[in-house]
Amino acid sequence: MADPTAHDHLTCQEVVELVTDYLESALPAEQAVLFEQHLNFCDGCEWYLDQMRRTIATVGRLPEEDVPPETRDALLAAFRDWRKR
Ligand SMILES: [Zn+2]
Repeated sequence: MADPTAHDHLTCQEVVELVTDYLESALPAEQAVLFEQHLNFCDGCEWYLDQMRRTIATVGRLPEEDVPPETRDALLAAFRDWRKR
């Protein structure tokens, strides 16, 4: 009776790791759906995605590499704080 898709969900960590691919539309459709499903119930990741969108709007494009380590650390720290509430 096990639903084979029951475990088919993304963790917050995975969402953070996939956000760049998502914004580049580089995610497979199946993963993009899971990504959006996670955002529906996770305000922290929705906020994180919003921050990434703002970063891109400011820079005008996706960063070539990752966001600068200090920016990423600040975002993740804020994200962790949110999770504690
Ligand atoms: Zn999340």
